[in-house]
Amino acid sequence: MEPRKDRVEERAAEQTGSKVGTQRPVEAPPRNGGGEAPEAPFRERRKRPRISETPPAPPPPPRLDDYEPIIGKPELDELRFLARPLLGKTVKMVNSTSLGGGVAEMLNRLIPLLSELEVVTRWDVITGGNDFFEVTKAFHNALHGGDYVLTKEARDIFMMYNEQNRQRMQFTEDLFVIHDPQPVGLVRSRERNRGKWMWRCHIDLSNPHPDVWGFLRPMVEEYDATVFSSPAFSRQLMAPQYLFFPCIDPLSEKNKELDPAYIQKVCDDFGIDRSRPIVTQISRFDRLKDPVGVIQAYKLAKKYVDCQLVLAGGGATDDPEGAIVLQEVMEAAGEDPDVIILNLPPWSALEINALQRASTVVVQKSLKEGFGLTVTEALWKGKPTIAGAVGGIPTQVIHKLTGVLVHSVEGCAYQIRYLLTHPEFAEQMGKNGREHVKENFLMTTNVKRWLLLFQILLGMVRKEKTT
Ligand code: UDP
Repeated sequence: MEPRKDRVEERAAEQTGSKVGTQRPVEAPPRNGGGEAPEAPFRERRKRPRISETPPAPPPPPRLDDYEPIIGKPELDELRFLARPLLGKTVKMVNSTSLGGGVAEMLNRLIPLLSELEVVTRWDVITGGNDFFEVTKAFHNALHGGDYVLTKEARDIFMMYNEQNRQRMQFTEDLFVIHDPQPVGLVRSRERNRGKWMWRCHIDLSNPHPDVWGFLRPMVEEYDATVFSSPAFSRQLMAPQYLFFPCIDPLSEKNKELDPAYIQKVCDDFGIDRSRPIVTQISRFDRLKDPVGVIQAYKLAKKYVDCQLVLAGGGATDDPEGAIVLQEVMEAAGEDPDVIILNLPPWSALEINALQRASTVVVQKSLKEGFGLTVTEALWKGKPTIAGAVGGIPTQVIHKLTGVLVHSVEGCAYQIRYLLTHPEFAEQMGKNGREHVKENFLMTTNVKRWLLLFQILLGMVRKEKTT
């Protein structure tokens, strides 16, 4: 097999420290203009960043018209047009938590938008004791390929809570969307002649634990349709399968446009020097996000080009493994004053937005990944993005078009150096990345996909006759 070109480039870069392209790299100047110590405010803030200790008040949810400046009137008209046949239809969405996690965040936006389009949508959350959530967490890990011994007790607990929730809830709507494995058993309330049931699976089922999948599968087979986030995440099933990409909301605190003065303030609070290039990775402190690999890549690139590295993440205080990984990251950074490590609280959406916007280059050097929403967020902000070629990342990062894919520390170092020294190429890739997100991974696209699926399941879309 022919070696992949990007790998060849990586290897060449690794061996020679050279570059592909015509421009000369900008050599790293001695920090702060020739041997002087960094200015005190930066140094101080880097050691003791000002991190907000209280969550801000939640902003009001956006209205459909607020999206017009972003996606344009024709796109909004299309949503209204697609919603028209569904007028008066009712939808129930069910998941297992109203707070925390990507699914709840998405439902928080999706449901008001569907309701504004007069597709009346109700959101129910299943309840359960600790024993239920322990079982469902173990199922989650096992479905991702982890080791697990499925016991009768675990099966009984799972079914008992599904049954309790089924008895407690009413199922009078026209359409039911059940999210993820926890409430999958609610489908037993399906009536033969009324209501269409969809199972929206957000997790990667490509390599599930056979016993756990064997237990859940008969319930999944009862649905009228299933929805997965990637073709690679799905299983062979009898019901039709649909592909819905995860999405971001361009009007959320994490993604909305920001006042430049606010971006500057966040950088000042964290001791980030905006007069020099900023390379950023935003991620939970998790080994699969390879933060130590990012530091190694930065150190290699730094031999040739000046930059600062920002590693911002969260969850390290309440997750014992996160705390260990944060410690490893600090050790790998050593005394380098240009590595800024930020352990952020969960209410840091605006700060993360500002950090992404202040970055010259964004890195997401994951070794394993779901979809990689941090990549979507960076691309949406028009940032040249370097990302590991894993999980859903290659769907977003089309190599050298919407970003660059890497497979190693050396490859990542090479691309940091290349993008920092080829700003025009980097800028064009950033623009392409934003367009790619606008077309495929925004909340409004997701609304459109749901409307179409609802129409299909309710028999409103005529099938083409094939001869
Ligand atoms: N994120 C955050 N705070 C952090 C780190 C990450 O709010 O300290 C956000 C990040 O902006 C993104 C999400 O958490 O919206 C992470 O999603 P992704 O799919 O990239 O990775 P996951 O953490 O789900 O594996």
